[in-house]
Amino acid sequence: MQQNSNKAIVIGSGIAGIASAIRLKTKGYSVIVFEKNAYPGGKLSSFESGKYRFDAGPSLFTMPHFVDELFELAGKNPRDYFQYVKHHKSCYYFWDDGTKIEAESDIKKWSKKVSETFHTEEGIIERKLQKAAKINQTIGDLFLEQSLHRVKNILNLKTLKAIFKISDLDIHKSLHQANQDDLKHPKLVQLFDRYATYNGSNPYKTPGIMGVIPHYEHNVGTFFPIEGMNSITTSLVKLAEDIGVEFVYNSTVDEIILDKTQKRVEGIMINGDFFEAKLIFSNMDVYFTYNKLLPNVKYPKKTLSQERSSSAIIFYWGVKKEFPELDLHNIFFTNKYKDEFEAIFNAKTMYNDPTVYINISSKIAKKDAPENAENWFVMVNAPANEAQDWDNLINETRKNVISKINAVLKTNIEKLIETEEILDPRTIESKTLSYKGSLYGTSSNSKFAAFLRHPNFKKNIKGLYFVGGSVHPGGGIPLCLLSAKIATNHV
Ligand code: FAD
Repeated sequence: MQQNSNKAIVIGSGIAGIASAIRLKTKGYSVIVFEKNAYPGGKLSSFESGKYRFDAGPSLFTMPHFVDELFELAGKNPRDYFQYVKHHKSCYYFWDDGTKIEAESDIKKWSKKVSETFHTEEGIIERKLQKAAKINQTIGDLFLEQSLHRVKNILNLKTLKAIFKISDLDIHKSLHQANQDDLKHPKLVQLFDRYATYNGSNPYKTPGIMGVIPHYEHNVGTFFPIEGMNSITTSLVKLAEDIGVEFVYNSTVDEIILDKTQKRVEGIMINGDFFEAKLIFSNMDVYFTYNKLLPNVKYPKKTLSQERSSSAIIFYWGVKKEFPELDLHNIFFTNKYKDEFEAIFNAKTMYNDPTVYINISSKIAKKDAPENAENWFVMVNAPANEAQDWDNLINETRKNVISKINAVLKTNIEKLIETEEILDPRTIESKTLSYKGSLYGTSSNSKFAAFLRHPNFKKNIKGLYFVGGSVHPGGGIPLCLLSAKIATNHV
């Protein structure tokens, strides 16, 4: 077998697969991306339903500089490919008792609204966000921007032990406990507990260090691509093609082929055809990479048996009315948050008073819906797929979601729905080969979760790398982009 080949193969065109392809190409490799679907992007894709356009998955865009840096790396001007704006309202929050608050990106304005709405002491928001910034400063680089699995990167155990001892990081409390200690007011605590769901975790279990997440949303800001979230995918695919990456769609990789010693990759098999490569980057969920593509490789049992993140049921509704009281991101909270997480992570079922998230991209991207109408992406958190009776759960959830929306908005939403599509844990799993339909790979429901995620490389197999939401540093667009950066830096 040719050992001096400069061919790299990427399995899957999720955001991390595309980013890896671009990075490998700029390193001088000849790169082919094989994608099972007829379209790129995996979870970050879009579709049309009647006169409406919907982003299928992610709706919240943070840390756009990680996208921009890919264009810069390739010597291009990001603005020639991809446009986004800062969104000044991070989210509108609603409760059944009529309480509502619009979270502003301007911290002073938001802080004022919080003290007016919840009668909390002044400065509480500023202090909370300063703490979030401090957590980011202390651990951001170490945990997110490099491999945790190379000894020299963990610096040394001493540093790690020192970090675990910093009480302000709240590592030894749950996120809920940390929020309770800092914020006191139950609705404000609930609002900050919600950040656990940004990586599919349970605020009553995930460590308080996840209090870093509001830093990215408020101190750095939330953004929106003016052509919709899917333009992150389309603009990066365009960049990749412009610099010479080849994409092959409708092609499911069946196996990764190793050499006789089982210590080096040789290529992949698709439908009985062999494709040679020196480097193989798997953007397929790491669980399925081992189970389907590496049948003869020893299975890292502990790593692959970690609890999966939550999944979701999404109703994509074309709504023939505009709702000025809603914005791009809206949350309708449950009355019993703890019970909702108990249902999702312990009973592994849907909760009967779910927290409902409504994203309406047509608030900004006007052409996503016809005039006087809006495209509603209505999402509720769901357990990972364990073969529950989903048809029944979806029917029940739909009723519960509609009655919550009707009660809060004083409307009859069902009469206004003119198109409907549904995504659920089963279809998330089948469309993107995400084990159990999890949105973010493994959950962060333990303080050791970061260390138990699969590394971005395979120690004893040369040329094999892992990228995407199921491996280090975790799920969500920015972290998937970082997985590509970490993995390609190790090539
Ligand atoms: P994936 O998107 O998982 O794609 C993997 C790709 O590999 C797929 O296209 C699949 O078809 C392909 N593939 C798999 N196996 C093979 C094979 N054997 N051969 C060929 N191709 C293969 N993140 C955010 O940052 N903000 C959000 O607001 C947000 N909301 C979300 C809402 C939903 C409903 C979902 C589903 C996810 C959300 N996420 C969000 C998470 C985010 O979408 C993911 O973390 C991220 O997109 C995962 O990217 P990935 O690179 O792991 O690849």
